[in-house]
Amino acid sequence: MNKVYSVKCSDYSAEKVNTALASLLEENGLLDFIKEGMTIGIKANLVSFMKPEAAATHPQVLKALCRLITTRGAKVIIGDSPGGLYTPAFVNRVYAATGMRELEEDGVSLNGNYSQNTADFPEAAVAKTFQYTAWLDECDAVINFCKLKSHGMMGMSAAVKNTFGIIPGTMKPEYHFRYSNPEDFARMIVDLNLYLKPALTICDAVVGMEGNGPTAGTPKDIGLLLASPSPYCLDLLCAHIIGLDTKDIPTIGASIERGLCPDSIQGLEICGEYHTVEDFKNIEVHNSLLFKGKGGVLHTVMGNTLHSLLSSRPVLKAADCVGCKECYRICPAKAIVMKNGKPQINRKKCIRCFCCQEFCPKGALKAHRTPIARLLNK
Ligand code: SF4
Ligand code: SF4
Repeated sequence: MNKVYSVKCSDYSAEKVNTALASLLEENGLLDFIKEGMTIGIKANLVSFMKPEAAATHPQVLKALCRLITTRGAKVIIGDSPGGLYTPAFVNRVYAATGMRELEEDGVSLNGNYSQNTADFPEAAVAKTFQYTAWLDECDAVINFCKLKSHGMMGMSAAVKNTFGIIPGTMKPEYHFRYSNPEDFARMIVDLNLYLKPALTICDAVVGMEGNGPTAGTPKDIGLLLASPSPYCLDLLCAHIIGLDTKDIPTIGASIERGLCPDSIQGLEICGEYHTVEDFKNIEVHNSLLFKGKGGVLHTVMGNTLHSLLSSRPVLKAADCVGCKECYRICPAKAIVMKNGKPQINRKKCIRCFCCQEFCPKGALKAHRTPIARLLNK
């Protein structure tokens, strides 16, 4: 149940990827749930049309997976709902930028169904009803194929966070606003995973993203492909590999809270070779080590004012800003006004969702820990 599989893969050459992925998946029987005639959906991470080499699931690993699936007589649909409009024009741009079009040459379908369905999920912790992308209902089983990256709001984007992409892009700001506390946002994403029930989760950690992720960071060689039937256990290993304290990742906290994974990697059964990346530059995560949202010691004692003082916030590097207004358009809290062609953030309104940082095409917004949080963390 707590097994996570790992294999080394030093680059995206077809030969290395094909060998590594076959060894990871076929030798461990991880694709044995696939039967002839099935339709398998691959929920990739196609976050945006920016920096596909480190931001998105790489086309070469997707190509290798699709071949393993079609060899078993199943059909494949690849899809995602990137941030932004969930329309053919927008998503087709993302398909083109992230190299998905070349997969069609192998008979793979890219999702073209832009309708939405409503989920009723009474057993959810917080998301008892939500909208999701309807293409997933065309599939007999779903494989979650994520990318390992730093993330402004959640500290890390890997398996569990990738499932936020089943929410239609235009609705994502609303969900950020509805679940503005990072712990509730994490609980909501865990609910989405429990609803989706991916049959398998794979992580592309051949090249990850460090620094100002998940879109404007820097590519970082990691050299691993990872897989598990459990996205929660897979995230636990991912955090360990990039040197994150699991207490700093709200989605891992929410998974532990629900009994979905052990509370440390000692509880995992890790099969295969892996290594840690000691110099991985993690983003300044949302929560201070001393301050852990609802129920945390300082939160309980001092409340929301201190939360505001301690939580990381987006900060503008004005020299990199081209005044495109994308941050202004996407901000779910309407906390941004444009002044003299540059964004100004109303700190009282800001809910620290980092949508502006994630979707700034120039990487001009960065997550910064406040001075008082830095001091307390020391
Ligand atoms: S999205 Fe980035 S470049 Fe565009 S206005 Fe905002 S900060 Fe400037
Ligand atoms: S300013 Fe940025 S971090 Fe703050 S609410 Fe708006 S999008 Fe979210």
